[in-house]
Amino acid sequence: MERLTVKGLVLRETPVGDNDKLLTLLTAERGKMTVSGRGVRSLRNRHMASTQQFCYASFTLVKSKSIYPYISDSELIESFFGLRGDIVRLAFASYVCEVAEHVSVEESGDVELLRLVLNTLYATSSGKKPIPLIKAAFELRCAAVLGMCPDLSCCSVCGAKEAPLFYLEIIEGNLVCPDCMAKRPSIEKDTDGNGGSYEARGGYQRPVSIVTPEILYAMRYTSSADIAKFLSFTLTDDAMISFGDTAERYLLHQLGCSFRTLLFYKSLSERD
Ligand SMILES: [Zn+2]
Repeated sequence: MERLTVKGLVLRETPVGDNDKLLTLLTAERGKMTVSGRGVRSLRNRHMASTQQFCYASFTLVKSKSIYPYISDSELIESFFGLRGDIVRLAFASYVCEVAEHVSVEESGDVELLRLVLNTLYATSSGKKPIPLIKAAFELRCAAVLGMCPDLSCCSVCGAKEAPLFYLEIIEGNLVCPDCMAKRPSIEKDTDGNGGSYEARGGYQRPVSIVTPEILYAMRYTSSADIAKFLSFTLTDDAMISFGDTAERYLLHQLGCSFRTLLFYKSLSERD
């Protein structure tokens, strides 16, 4: 029988029968994997602690005749215990895991994506940074890890590196300075009611977000810093909200989808 040891984060758990689970893991070695946890829902099972959602553990897997390999041994590395005591943190962590499951690929190891998700969950669990800041940075950095980072270096038309503000074209991932934007046909501002605006052009509307110098600095930093330090910045509350809107719109546009867990997180966080 073939054995394999991987370090994996439990993105999702699906109950099967009375005592079993299917786990969706994000691993550095094999990307996304589905594995079987036999008997792990039993309170006496020795793998119970490492087979919960958000747990990061070392798993020894055995390939059997069934479709999915089963867990023969496990050792918990990190449980992100701080997520359990706070419903908003838990909801945000669920969103992070749903995004990770959506963008990860089977049989394709992705060390950067796993590091990003682990660092994001660690910061969320520790409670040392505001969740809106973690969320914005995670969304932008996730786009960068997937090779979809916007070009934040300069105005895509004239090459200006600094301006009183920039417009970020959400679909193209380009910055445009106000002078270059003014030379374009009519602009209708804030028609999406989301702090951004749509540029009406030739009958087709292109979404843009306004990026102030403070937000641009944060975006440049978090998209390129070492992943261990990608949250080492601060923002004023207004800038954090604006960066959050921009990062969320950008990632969802680039992925072409929305997430059930994001709607739930927003329903909770907007109540605060
Ligand atoms: Zn320009």
